[in-house]
Amino acid sequence: LPTSNALMDITPRPPVVFTRGEGAYLWDSQGRRYLDFVQGWAVNALGHAPPVIAQALAEQAQALITPSPAYYNGPSLALANTLAQSSCFDRVFFTNSGAEAVEGAIKLARRYGEFHKDGAYEIITFDGAFHGRTLATMSASGKAAFAPLFEPKVPGFPKARLNDLESVEALIGARTIAIMLEPIQGEAGVWPATPTFLKELRQLTRQHGLLLIVDEIQTGIGRTGKLFDYEHATITPDIMALGKGIGGGVPLGALLATEAVSCFRHGDQGGTYNGNPLMCAVGKAVVDTVAAPAFLAHVTAKGETLETALNALAGKHALGATRGRGLLIALDLGREIAPAVVERALQNGLLINAPRADALRFMPALNVTPAEIEDGIALLDRVLSEL
Ligand SMILES: *Cc1c(COP(=O)(O)O)cnc(C)c1O
Repeated sequence: LPTSNALMDITPRPPVVFTRGEGAYLWDSQGRRYLDFVQGWAVNALGHAPPVIAQALAEQAQALITPSPAYYNGPSLALANTLAQSSCFDRVFFTNSGAEAVEGAIKLARRYGEFHKDGAYEIITFDGAFHGRTLATMSASGKAAFAPLFEPKVPGFPKARLNDLESVEALIGARTIAIMLEPIQGEAGVWPATPTFLKELRQLTRQHGLLLIVDEIQTGIGRTGKLFDYEHATITPDIMALGKGIGGGVPLGALLATEAVSCFRHGDQGGTYNGNPLMCAVGKAVVDTVAAPAFLAHVTAKGETLETALNALAGKHALGATRGRGLLIALDLGREIAPAVVERALQNGLLINAPRADALRFMPALNVTPAEIEDGIALLDRVLSEL
């Protein structure tokens, strides 16, 4: 469809060029409309082109785009304060992507190990985990397809099994400094860590003097019905990585840590665009909108609506079960038809994602309406009937 294409071919893309978005919908260059349950990959927390983001961008672009990360600016201070006040963390470092936030978390944990644990540097991570595509975050990931790539990997990321405390305990040694996990493994196919497992990890890390790092890039900023998913398990981690939803569609991430753990010395961490006012002004608008109790209650309610509808669909078409929390839900198809469903759905005007061949993942905008959920389910019902 594109008449010339100089883009590196890094992923299969359908022959469609998107030109416009509004709320739950995208339009392509032919004027066709799509109901979007991908939303930039769990990124557009408030849907496509929300007025609150357009306004924040326009106002900030006219006031100050970037002064230099070596100077203070208003929006980064305001957003950092909001995040600190609404979480168990005290300090924030802004990044331009999720991977960069995780990379920062790894560096901070290693620095903490240097200062407090005789140079301990190993971070226990999990089979199936996804933490990003820089060399260190690919090394920290437990995605099987990454294993043979870009050798040699960054060392120091032994892998345990999710929801298996003994597999974690077996890896703890003198060099261990932290345990890092996604509260729900998103890219692997929406596999939640149980609240019990998260509580046990917090206890275990305290017992051994280790840090607990949560990668909430996919689960954070209201996605699972709390501002941060760790709140469901009533734990307080030491470090958190944010990305995706915090920018509502613009490149923004954040590394958060408690005061005791915020041990970077001058020169350890930085970056030209980090904490630029343009992105931080958007982040502030997004977080202020999402953090309102009524907004979060709606996310929970709509997650239940979606899950109930998916279970009914599963019953009708003899599919498997749903899993996940809030508006991060997977439907187990019970057979490897997910890529075919995704392709057919696109042809029918519905965008969904298949994180694995036997499952669909739903990550609509957090302000999706019950009517839009109903429309999406009806489209999916038609696709499943056709297959
Ligand atoms: C998307 C994602 C990342 C990587 O974020 P980028 O912005 O793509 O670098 C890391 N961890 C998790 C859990 C993610 O979902």
